[in-house]
Formats: sequence, structure tokens, C-alpha cells
Amino acid sequence: MDFELSDSQKEIRAAVAAACARFGNDYWRSCDERNAYPDEFVKSMSEAGWLAALIPQEYGGAGLTMLEASLILEEINHSGGNAVACHAQMYTMAAILKHGSAEQKRHYLPRIASGELRLQSFGVTEPDAGSETPRIKTFARRDGDSYVINGQKIFTSRYQHSDMLLLLTRTTPFDQVKKKTDGMSLFLVDIKESGSALKAVPIATMVNHGTNQLFIDNLVLPRAALVGEEGKGFSYLLSSLNAERILVASESIGDGRWFVEFATQYANQRRVFDRPIGMNQGVQFPIAKAHVSVRAADLMRFNAAARFDAGVSCGGEANMAKYLASEAAWEAGEAAMTTLGGYGFTKEYHVERKWREARLYRTAPIANNLVLSFVAEHLLGLPRSY
Ligand SMILES: Cc1cc2nc3c(=O)[nH]c(=O)nc-3n(C[C@H](O)[C@H](O)[C@H](O)COP(=O)(O)OP(=O)(O)OC[C@H]3O[C@@H](n4cnc5c(N)ncnc54)[C@H](O)[C@@H]3O)c2cc1C
Repeated sequence: MDFELSDSQKEIRAAVAAACARFGNDYWRSCDERNAYPDEFVKSMSEAGWLAALIPQEYGGAGLTMLEASLILEEINHSGGNAVACHAQMYTMAAILKHGSAEQKRHYLPRIASGELRLQSFGVTEPDAGSETPRIKTFARRDGDSYVINGQKIFTSRYQHSDMLLLLTRTTPFDQVKKKTDGMSLFLVDIKESGSALKAVPIATMVNHGTNQLFIDNLVLPRAALVGEEGKGFSYLLSSLNAERILVASESIGDGRWFVEFATQYANQRRVFDRPIGMNQGVQFPIAKAHVSVRAADLMRFNAAARFDAGVSCGGEANMAKYLASEAAWEAGEAAMTTLGGYGFTKEYHVERKWREARLYRTAPIANNLVLSFVAEHLLGLPRSY
């Protein structure tokens, strides 16, 4: 088995790294401190076509593979950046490509590919449902040729920086379906056309994520806004999940590499007791262990992406890659924090920001406990625990 990147994949990695180098740690720190959206970065990545990686060429995208798309997000985080600003349209693309109507694809994909339209917002999580998505209560009621939607979402990120929102609702109440994942539907919402029916209230968090509570009050959508068939939205969501797991793993791998490199450089330079602190095994071993973990996660990501691109089942590999990578990035973040001593806490050295950002991926877009439940049940055949 060959784990080496091809020449064209190496070129993609190098080109994205060069594009990201124009921004760098100070740019991202400034966005974080101001809680500002990295507009300039997203604009430049859109213009270069990197955010259209998974849109087929016939719709103006780059038509790249999952492995190549994953390298793009990895390099953004490896550069000191934070791909959350622009990853959503890659995460959700499979649902639209596989299940969107010809008209939806024709109308939206070329404009998303060119950067004219941003599909950066995804409304799934609700306050009372949490990780049990089938318990969502946001409801789309059929009214002639339209749907009228009411409900509430939480943690809807990038709403203010997106033109489109992919919204999961119930179209049959939870207590009236045979299978609890039935009766949910997915809608493509044009935010500008929704007027006062959508109200977003920002949530202050420890990361610069632009996340919101979203109140939906009599939002009227045409039937054309429905993705695929009514009632099958959850299965459409599932078709995006392996892609999402692989892509989020890649961002964590980028974070992990950033921490290991930053900590190594610092440990070589910082002298205490008249020698570099990196000479102490107590300092170098945590960095070395983190490097081992990040490399192992990278191989699992490689395996998951290769299987995804080959069209064979990759649910196990994608989930394990997400788990390993998010834990490895956290381990690397901890090693970097320890290596920098007091300076790890200062904003000037960037580690505290990356540490906060890396922590998120142990919880979102799916909590690692739920990943372990998947592994236990679906890969090992243990009883379902919930
Ligand atoms: C900054 C940020 C941005 C986000 N952006 C978005 C977004 O854009 N769109 C969106 O839809 N969502 C978004 N989310 C939501 C995110 O996906 C959820 O927070 C996450 O899925 C966990 O759901 P919860 O917070 O309701 O936790 P809960 O479901 O309440 O779980 C709390 C804890 O209990 C554990 N737990 C629950 N059930 C079990 C079980 N059966 N077995 C073992 N452990 C269990 C979980 O692992 C977790 O640690 C975002 C979250 C954050 C913090």
C-alpha cells in the first residue's frame, strides 16, 4: 500500500500552503481578538477556487477527490489558520450533489463555485435534541405548494457570513414515525429572501466561530427549496457524514502539525538552566508522543479518504480518523502549552488560540463519545448503548 502523495497532490498541498502564507498567525490572531470573520482570507481562497474543491467541473468547481479536499483544509489549519470559516460547503456538498434536484444544482453550484454565493451555514443542532438528532422539533408544515417552518436551532455557525443555510427539520412528528430517523427533511434556504422569519442571536463562545441561536418564525419556502424527497432528510445528512468526518480529521491533523512544529522550534530555542529546554526528556517526550499520534491519525485519514475516493465503505475509517485526529491535535496542543510555560498563555505566541480551536473538534461536529459508540456498535458488534 502506497501512502505517498502523488505529484499533483503534493502540488495542491504546496499551492494551498503558499496561498495561506499570505495570512499567517498574526492575521488569525487579529481576527480572533476582534471576533471577526476572516473575509479577506475566504475571498482569496474562493477566488483561487480552493473552496470549490468538491464541486464537479461541469458546475464550475475543481472536481477534486476527497483526499485532495482534505489536504486543502489541513494546510489551512497547519498554516496557523482556522478552516471553520469556510469548511461548511465542503462538508455539506455530498447531500446536495447526491440528492439535490437538477434545478438546484444548476442554479446554485456554479455560483457557489465562483464564490458569489456562500453556503457556509448548517442548521442541525437544537437545544432539546442535542446529540440525538431525531428529537429535533423544528417543523416544516406543507401548505399547498409551500412549506411553513417554525422552530429553533442552536450553534448555527457563520449565519451572518453565509447566503444559504442548509436546514434540517421534521416534516412528520417524532411520535408518528416508525423509525425515529424517518420524517425529517432537508431544505436549502436563501437567507436574504427569508426576511424577518429568521432571527439569529449570536452566542459568545471561547472560539471565533460566529455561532448563533436561530429562531424560525413562519418561514415560508417554496417546494423547490426541499432537497430530495420529503421525509428522507436524515439519510441525506448521513451521505455527508463520512465526508465531514474525513474533512474535520484533516483540520485536526493540520492543527496537530502546527503545534508539534511550533513546540519543537520553541523547545530548541528557549534556554533555561543554561541549555535548550528541549534537551529535557520531560519536555521532548510529550512533543514526540504527540507527533506519533498525529502521524498515526494522518495514516487513518489517508486510508479513509482513499476508500471514500474508491467508492468503498469507509464509515469505520472516517469515524476512527475523526477520533484519532481530534485527540492527537489536543495532545499536541497540550504538549505545546506545556513547552511554552507561561508564554503559552499569552496571545502573542498563538498557542492559546490554537489550543482553544483544537479543543472544539473533540465535541463538534459530533462528540467523540458518540464516535466511540459508533465504533463499539457498528465495528465491534457490541450492544447499542443509547
Ligand atoms: C462552536 C460550535 C459550533 C457549532 N456549529 C454548529 C453548526 O454550525 N451547526 C450545527 O448544527 N451544530 C453546530 N454545533 C453543535 C455541535 O455539533 C454539538 O454541540 C455537538 O454535536 C454536541 O451536541 P450537544 O452540545 O447538544 O451535546 P449533548 O448531546 O448535550 O452531549 C453532552 C455530552 O454528553 C455526551 N453524551 C450524550 N449522549 C451520550 C451517549 N449516549 N453516550 C455517551 N456520551 C453521551 C456527549 O458526548 C457530550 O460530551 C456547534 C457547536 C459548537 C460548540
